Amino acid sequence: MKNIICLGIESTAHTFAVGIIDSKKNVLADVRNNYTTERGGIIPMEAAKFHFENKENILNKALEEAKLKIDDIDIIAFSQGPGLSPSLIVGKDFAKYLSIKYQKPLVGVNHLCGHLEEGKFFTEAKDPVFVFVSGANTQIIAYEAGKYRIFGEALSVGLGNALDKFGREVNLGFPSGSKIEKLAKEGKYVELPYVVKGMDVEFSGIVTHCIQLYKKGIPIEDLCYSLQETGFAMLIEVTERALAHTGKKEALLIGGVAANQRFIEMLNIMCKERNAKAYACPLKYSGDNGIQIAIAGLLQYNSDYNVYKTGKEIESADINPNWRIDELKTPWMKN
Ligand code: AMP
Ligand code: MG
Repeated sequence: MKNIICLGIESTAHTFAVGIIDSKKNVLADVRNNYTTERGGIIPMEAAKFHFENKENILNKALEEAKLKIDDIDIIAFSQGPGLSPSLIVGKDFAKYLSIKYQKPLVGVNHLCGHLEEGKFFTEAKDPVFVFVSGANTQIIAYEAGKYRIFGEALSVGLGNALDKFGREVNLGFPSGSKIEKLAKEGKYVELPYVVKGMDVEFSGIVTHCIQLYKKGIPIEDLCYSLQETGFAMLIEVTERALAHTGKKEALLIGGVAANQRFIEMLNIMCKERNAKAYACPLKYSGDNGIQIAIAGLLQYNSDYNVYKTGKEIESADINPNWRIDELKTPWMKN
């Protein structure tokens, strides 16, 4: 079978990235650039401007890293959603331009599916309950009855954004997750609200509570520690119930917050107790990147799902900022 080379473009939020893989599972290039701010969170138009200004450079670096020319690429995949529209548009327009100019099929990838498939690609997990915890998203997902389904999720703000929101209030800069992890090592427990509603979790009240305690003089280390312990415990509880419901024997932590060693440790403890296996997407691939888009893009291309081939089809490709994972078809998965 011909070795197919897929180039993936990621631009859903703060990261603009290009990843290149082939169908023999080789990672040929992985180049990323992150929009960051010292104070405050992500400003969508600023992030989009950053992506726009960096896109050619990132592409050229990726091709250089892979020692390939654009003509050697067989498929172009792009992050179609969910995400911030201004950022998504930059990636979509760039992918369409490349696809038309170099006459390559274009594949529209669900960014979340990219995270899920990448987690399986880089671990031994085959059919896990996914604990997907990124900046904007917090969802417990598993493949059941023909599609990826959401078993539980954060009702308002995702855990990553909740950590960032707290970090912003206490001047840790953006993103704050890894700084909170460091400070938490020196902290002790203070009581925080624990909010699990059915299979869903709610973080916004906890963050507000933490900010109030910070203003009252509770040490930042204690708040970081307690915020982590409480938020992670809520998610582990829901994950355990999803394992029980689906009968699956694997849990796989993915998304930017999967970089957190304490979270991985807590997931390990729970899984051990119920004879399941815990996996975490390798640190390097836990945040947004182009490889995740290339991986899902290649799977989709091989099963002819959401592939734009003719000029007319490619012209019609658009973003889908609210694309939920349970709306996705997964013809590459076997029932
Ligand atoms: P993503 O949206 O998947 O790129 O993930 C970004 C989110 O991960 C941000 O909200 C970060 O604060 C968070 N994050 C990154 N590293 C860590 C860490 N070590 N602990 C907790 N959260 C983290
Ligand atoms: Mg992401």
